[in-house]
Amino acid sequence: MMLHQRTLLAWIMVISSLLLSSPGLAAAPCPTLDASDPAARNNINHYLCYYAAALNSPAHTADSPEALPATLAWQPARGLDLVFSQTSAVYWITLSIRNTGDEPHQWFLELHYPLLDDVRFWQRHNQLSTEKPLLTGDQRPFASRAIDYRYFLLPVTLDPGETLDIYLRVHSSGALNVPLSLYTASEIITDSNQLTLIHGLFYGALTILAVFNLLLFASSHTRYYFYNAFYIASMGLFLFIMGGFANQYFWPENTTLAYYSIPVTLMVCALAMTLFGWSFLEVARGTLAEKALQSLVTIIVGFLVLTFLIPYNKSILMNTALTLIVIATLQIIAFVRWRQGYLPAIWYLSAWGVMVTGAMVYALAAFGYLGDYQAREVMMQAVVGTQVILLNYALVQRWRLLNQKLFDVEHEARTGLELKVNERTAQLRHAMKELEQANRQLAALSLNDALTGLFNRRHMDNQLSQRCREASRSGAPLTLALLDADHFKRINDTWGHDFGDQCLRQIADTLRTQLKRPRDAAFRFGGEEFALILPDTDTQGALTVCQAILQATRQTPVATPDHKYVAPTLSAGIAQLRRNEDAQALFNRADAALYDAKHSGRDQVMIWRDGDKALTRKPEA
Ligand code: GH3
Ligand code: MG
Ligand code: MG
Repeated sequence: MMLHQRTLLAWIMVISSLLLSSPGLAAAPCPTLDASDPAARNNINHYLCYYAAALNSPAHTADSPEALPATLAWQPARGLDLVFSQTSAVYWITLSIRNTGDEPHQWFLELHYPLLDDVRFWQRHNQLSTEKPLLTGDQRPFASRAIDYRYFLLPVTLDPGETLDIYLRVHSSGALNVPLSLYTASEIITDSNQLTLIHGLFYGALTILAVFNLLLFASSHTRYYFYNAFYIASMGLFLFIMGGFANQYFWPENTTLAYYSIPVTLMVCALAMTLFGWSFLEVARGTLAEKALQSLVTIIVGFLVLTFLIPYNKSILMNTALTLIVIATLQIIAFVRWRQGYLPAIWYLSAWGVMVTGAMVYALAAFGYLGDYQAREVMMQAVVGTQVILLNYALVQRWRLLNQKLFDVEHEARTGLELKVNERTAQLRHAMKELEQANRQLAALSLNDALTGLFNRRHMDNQLSQRCREASRSGAPLTLALLDADHFKRINDTWGHDFGDQCLRQIADTLRTQLKRPRDAAFRFGGEEFALILPDTDTQGALTVCQAILQATRQTPVATPDHKYVAPTLSAGIAQLRRNEDAQALFNRADAALYDAKHSGRDQVMIWRDGDKALTRKPEA
């Protein structure tokens, strides 16, 4: 359409409006917004007027701006957000805008609260007749919207100098927020792009976390991972619905789902948080806490069913109240568990602390006390995001604690085992020591005679052969002396065997004291028979030693049991090793000399003289 034709048309409309001014349209006491002025558009709440039409009042039943009473008491918004709590009323909102520019221009009136049941827009150009309304809202299919967007958008086009009156009729069974903005197309795109990034990050992160927890559940079969995924998914869905995305993408045609989605999802969230808390906090069986949670689950399921049976405005209130009770109960249980020493409960508490604070701020905002709706939405996403991250951190902490416990048990088992091994090793070492000692004793026993401590017969045999070989090789003299206690049988018979033993020990002591050279060795090779192996000693030397021994024995009396003193006597036979002689021959010759000593009257020493085949008596000096 050519510009001048439009201007002409506008003039015709102005004139006709003056002639037949519409009867029902009461003038609102609000200034006209200069749409070309961004500052004015930013302060749109200063240009809005509204009217709350109570149930059954004429304005409530009016189905167009023309049908409104002429005397309608419009209220100026005075810069405040339009937030209403009385939900049975119908709200009428009006706004006048003017294009002060030189060009025709398009703007978009955005109503960025997606959860309104019934929204109707009317436009009246230059106060002439009203255009066909745009009827939209949650209770109509998504296609009813002028533009495919999660918020309600009304495109308006104004010629230069043109004034447009916009009327808006809103009715909803839920909370009633009517945040309005007037944007240019580029502003909407910029705004939408920024929000798309935030939403993408937020819902993307939630999806990844939910899937990750599901995978953890699948691999570990630990139930709280499943409940955590369930909670993240239901909370995400709840915010997705609240943001108007679900109506746009999930069920654009289904007004029934749109109607029930919020109270139903709220109950699903409550169920998820109860189940998660129940398993995460390790609530013990049979406790009051467990009973409370059991009852809550039953009540939640009951409310879920009830949601489909009672009006929306009742169910949304009941479900919200129940959700608050669930949160409070879980907080109390978490606190008690923390006091009981269950450490992960503190992370659970802080996660929910963030959530509860956020929800309170959100509620304050919902009643118009804080900022605009979009800021609230982003804030709520930040709160839920933080909560979900903290809850996952709580899970990590819980996992760490379990691991620590496992480690401790393992460590305990290992140190216990080590202790036992050490103990056993010590015992073994001790046993080895004892065994060694026993072996040493055994070895000593095999060399020594138990009664006198002198070397025994076996050792004598070994030593004598060895010494004989040495002497044969070196040519050094070697002498063997055999000594036998005299009439020892008699001693035993007279004073007993013990006394005999005592005498034998006494004789052994004498032998030990009388042998001075380190290589001399004394043996007890029979009952009362002793031998001396004297290396590097000839018969003369041996004679001296034997005579000294005999004298010492004779002069050392032993106390008898009947308090007498008896000195035992010894007889000795001496033989010196001959060339090429072996030990046995040497022994026989010494024995023969001893025999001779016995038969010559005892208590004397006899020598087998070298070179002389016959026995030669050598009486005591
Ligand atoms: P003699 O050698 O002077 O001819 O007289 P004897 O009485 O010593 O002779 P005999 O060799 O026949 O007796 C050895 C006795 O020595 C027999 C036994 O009573 C005693 N006798 C042998 N071994 C032990 C011993 O280990 N302890 C004690 N108390 N007596 C022993
Ligand atoms: Mg004897
Ligand atoms: Mg004898």
